[in-house]
Amino acid sequence: MSGAALLPFEFRPNPNPATDAERAAILADPGFGKTFTDHMVTIKWTEGVGWHSATVEPFGPIPMSPATAVLHYAQEIFEGMKAYNAADGSITMFRPEANARRFIESAHRMAMPELPEELFVESLRQLVRTDRAWIPSGEGSLYLRPFMFASEAFLGVRPAKEFLYCVIASPAGAYFKSGPKPISVYVSEEYTRAAPGGTGAAKCGGNYATSLLPQAQAIEQGCEQVVFLDAVHRKYVDELGGMNVFFVYGLDRTIVTPELGTILPGITRDAIFALARDFGYEVVERAYSIDEWRADAADGSLTEAFACGTAAVMTPIGMAKSVNGDIEVGGGKAGEVTMRLRQALLDIQHGAAEDTHGWITRIQ
Ligand SMILES: *Cc1c(COP(=O)(O)O)cnc(C)c1O
Repeated sequence: MSGAALLPFEFRPNPNPATDAERAAILADPGFGKTFTDHMVTIKWTEGVGWHSATVEPFGPIPMSPATAVLHYAQEIFEGMKAYNAADGSITMFRPEANARRFIESAHRMAMPELPEELFVESLRQLVRTDRAWIPSGEGSLYLRPFMFASEAFLGVRPAKEFLYCVIASPAGAYFKSGPKPISVYVSEEYTRAAPGGTGAAKCGGNYATSLLPQAQAIEQGCEQVVFLDAVHRKYVDELGGMNVFFVYGLDRTIVTPELGTILPGITRDAIFALARDFGYEVVERAYSIDEWRADAADGSLTEAFACGTAAVMTPIGMAKSVNGDIEVGGGKAGEVTMRLRQALLDIQHGAAEDTHGWITRIQ
């Protein structure tokens, strides 16, 4: 690791950490995103100075001016990843350098400073080592949320001159307690999430803000998730609010997924390419229309569909509801290819299978 990009980290221990009993009660049923560990990482960026003041400090409120730029113009990006208690007793992460590179890409699109890859990975290592007692064992993991926002107090419209980068951590249980249940998705004909030239490929909070209304409509329609169509033709499948989507043609041994451009380049998506090829499936990235989805589900050539992302890993899609008629996939059941890929990915992530693709970083 090149030392140039690294800063010294100051350590300010939490004077009031959770007791062993409190932590054990949380880890017994952590849910998702509800509780946080004792510490967080902060690193500041100032124009003319660069990155400075890297600190591991007690998890707690961030004081800020009401004029802080992010509160007005949403200059903010984030990442999501997990740390695992591996089967051999070590602590691991799944492809953290890929998250680091994507964080740089997101920063570029949002006119924010680029956090060097090594500093990003080191910030995760610092927090996970400090709060290692918070990593659930078994199927759980410690969800890590790096994020960065414009912290300058200024109402003028231009890229900020001060930013704050933070990492917080939250214990996460097995996402599905009794195996993944197929979800229904609602095809939004009214709203889109990203247009060409927009911010669809950046992991920014603003993309999520605009997905909340269509997501609420999906829930109203009795679905778990919204699926967006492209903004130009309003017919090609983009992705869900926070997950990429795949279509399995079991008889052809082919897996189709929308090409990059307006969608978020998922790291789970990328890992599935490699695992699917290991299993002898061809992976095709191309525009995939809702009409194709409908016709191929009806004639049975489309055998499975699934969504993927770090938080839920892989989720079968049993049904797509749309104003033009519902689409049932694979009899509404979790597909065999989906479940095999999912297990293979989970086994690598949790250290139960050999890491043949070099995806695992040992951090302790
Ligand atoms: C984070 C995210 C994903 C999934 O990416 P992973 O790297 O697999 O976690 C998919 N879509 C959107 C919009 C996202 O923000």
